[in-house]
Amino acid sequence: MDRKGMQENCACSDRSARRARYLTGRIIAFLRNNNEHYRIRLTRLRGNTELCAKHGMTLADICGLVDWDERLIIIDVQDSPLNTIAHEVLHVLYPDAEEKEIVELETLVMEHLSDGQAVSL
Ligand SMILES: [Zn+2]
Repeated sequence: MDRKGMQENCACSDRSARRARYLTGRIIAFLRNNNEHYRIRLTRLRGNTELCAKHGMTLADICGLVDWDERLIIIDVQDSPLNTIAHEVLHVLYPDAEEKEIVELETLVMEHLSDGQAVSL
């Protein structure tokens, strides 16, 4: 099969693959350099009403949150912490983006994540 034929069979466009690479690079750089001085805490968050309320969330059924005042990212350890880390870091990188957009970016990043990138997260 020629190169053109292979590209036509690829489910994702070059553009979305490029975008995913760019976003993943930003997430990894954020985690490595942490220039914005966010602390990241892994804990049992889901269902912990008290902890959620302490950090300004009324819902307890969440797997991650950003406490903007304390510059703290809390990640639930129980399910898909990798997705959640990517999701919450995207919130910090794009503070004006709506939840729906963040979920779209997270999905894009996770769909294109290589094993090496997953280790870096
Ligand atoms: Zn979110």
